[in-house]
Amino acid sequence: MAFGFAQAFRRFGRLALAGAIGAGLAAGDVGAEQKTPSPGSAKALFGGVSLPTQGLAQPIGFYAKGCMAGAVALPTDGPTWQAMRLSRNRRWGNPVTIALLERFSQDAAKYAGWPGILVGDIAQPRGGPMPSGHASHQIGLDADVWLTPMPPHRMTADEREDLPFTSMLQKNKFLTIDPRVWTESHARLLMLAASYPQVERIFVNPAIKKKMCDTWTGDRTNLGKLRPEYGHDSHFHIRLKCPPGAAGCTSQAPVAAGDGCDKSLAWWFTPAPWAPPKPPKADAKPPKPPREMMVSDLPKACAAVLDAASVASIQAATYDGETSAATAFTAAPAAAPTADDDEALPDVGPVPNDKPTIQ
Ligand SMILES: [Zn+2]
Repeated sequence: MAFGFAQAFRRFGRLALAGAIGAGLAAGDVGAEQKTPSPGSAKALFGGVSLPTQGLAQPIGFYAKGCMAGAVALPTDGPTWQAMRLSRNRRWGNPVTIALLERFSQDAAKYAGWPGILVGDIAQPRGGPMPSGHASHQIGLDADVWLTPMPPHRMTADEREDLPFTSMLQKNKFLTIDPRVWTESHARLLMLAASYPQVERIFVNPAIKKKMCDTWTGDRTNLGKLRPEYGHDSHFHIRLKCPPGAAGCTSQAPVAAGDGCDKSLAWWFTPAPWAPPKPPKADAKPPKPPREMMVSDLPKACAAVLDAASVASIQAATYDGETSAATAFTAAPAAAPTADDDEALPDVGPVPNDKPTIQ
């Protein structure tokens, strides 16, 4: 690293940023600047649907630009999980995602010393862009899991709304793990999540990735799946691969070989990701605000997904463990296109100025 944080902050005169990173982004799911989506925008339309479509589960498009048919809901409760923030109606996913979460929750209790998981946002009933909170989570293959273990009691709906996020970071310190909240079980939980072949990558805060790089003494084969990203200090984000046979699903370019404890991580510990954008020149025109995403910007099939008939009720589409991943798809496997890593920012947050090429 060329220079340390204290030096970086002095140089940029932005001590307040430590607070912003520790607190503002700590909520993880909630973006700092949300504006109400316009009527007719993809966010408004997909955010306004309360039930999934009937029929086969299909992820359509890319994690950050797509939608989903045939979603199933994670049951609000299981022996080793509880779904959070139920009012958001975002516990919908592809059956492979829901099956993986249930399996992961059981394995976490068995192998990671983690009594059960708290599941945050998965996707809207028909996926698509959300009115608040995430750039991805659009095709039912992304899920947020809290870095807080499940409490021993069944929480009420109100408790699930109100339980505050716990950041793993020290307040007022730059990208530093708080040793009072971080445990060996957190590390085991993350490596367990990364161990499933269906899991494509996992987004964690850069400080968490660094902690893992510095302290994980077990098998490091899957450590490279942990990808540093803004926020993600009170939850982590599991992204699944396109399931076999999901012809309409656009894969993400795979993570680079190796453990990722390299310059792609070190970059986060320089001022570059946190520097404010350069002020425009005095004679420059003010930049146009980005255009809202419309349904016509999504894959063509997403318009039909919006119009398709609903299942009868949430209960009718709640995953019961019997829909096997193998029956979720009937289409023949096809070579799916891949999309660039930069299009796949997982959640709302400031956009990095210039990501280094990953080694
Ligand atoms: Zn997420």
